[in-house]
Amino acid sequence: MKVLVAEDDRVSRRLLTRAVSGWGYQVVEAIDGDQAWEILQQDEAPPLVIMDWEMPGWDGVEICRHVRQLHREPYTYILLLTARKDQQDIIDGLQAGADDYITKPFDKHELEVRLRTGKRIIKLQKELIEARERLRIMARHDPLTGLYNRGAIFEQLQTEISRARRSSTCLTIVLGDVDHFKSINDTHGHLVGDEVLRSVAQRLNQSSRDYDAVGRYGGEEFLALVPGCPPDCALDQANRLHQAVRSRPVETEQGDIPVTISLGVAVCNGDSLPDAETLIHAADEALYRAKEAGRDRVEIGHPEAVPTG
Ligand code: GH3
Ligand code: MG
Ligand code: MG
Ligand code: MG
Repeated sequence: MKVLVAEDDRVSRRLLTRAVSGWGYQVVEAIDGDQAWEILQQDEAPPLVIMDWEMPGWDGVEICRHVRQLHREPYTYILLLTARKDQQDIIDGLQAGADDYITKPFDKHELEVRLRTGKRIIKLQKELIEARERLRIMARHDPLTGLYNRGAIFEQLQTEISRARRSSTCLTIVLGDVDHFKSINDTHGHLVGDEVLRSVAQRLNQSSRDYDAVGRYGGEEFLALVPGCPPDCALDQANRLHQAVRSRPVETEQGDIPVTISLGVAVCNGDSLPDAETLIHAADEALYRAKEAGRDRVEIGHPEAVPTG
């Protein structure tokens, strides 16, 4: 773990660096407050800091205050090093955002255990951040296919609608429903059905551009958002999704299973974009027509023709 040693006194800095690196930390040195602040703003800034209070440039307490205003993640744990022993000084230092303090001349053993406390807190916080990120991903993704779940893709749709309105650009949505999926389940079992859904999801995702989004809208229904391309190009994209699913059978443990999908497309330009529900309604109506016409095809819907309210 990296430790910033910010100390203007050369002798004291050398002592600190020698001790801290002896305990297995990787030391970064700063010779004054300005240099310390510069280092602490960098992306890979050390999470643990031993900060002298009295330094030219910004002093340690000022730096604490500024570090806290950054609201950094991961957290910066600051151990204030001070010759001041007054209770009020200590209170001021802690109030400015220091986590702990140690008085000069420092006792090596005390510094070691106080640093270890800081390291433990940084490690705990890192684990918490990782757990939170995992939860965030779980909350937005469908566990079976790994695609965005219904809530997340709907949210994304609303974001894309706002963006398209602001920039007067086109937005296309494609709603797809796997054909005769029930009979795949009935013939091969639910687990193979799951495998097929995963493959379909993967094919749709791989055939999408980086700035498109694909989500699982329902059981065997998928919603793709295709922002920023004119109607012709959006239709090409819908046809690519269609072909991606049907191009070759899905290989499963029960053999190859041919799969097709029906797709309903709704294309809009930013000047006359309806709300999310109306767009989905238009795509759904086109999808219904694709099913009626024999499945395994793309149909186009017209949002302006869909009654609202
Ligand atoms: P259509 O061509 O008209 O869409 O016919 P279909 O059989 O695909 O449509 P239907 O709505 O009758 O059946 C959809 C089936 O999808 C029923 C449901 O049990 C199944 N299903 C929904 N979610 C899952 C899932 O997560 N895994 C599996 N294996 N099946 C699912
Ligand atoms: Mg000093
Ligand atoms: Mg369905
Ligand atoms: Mg279906």
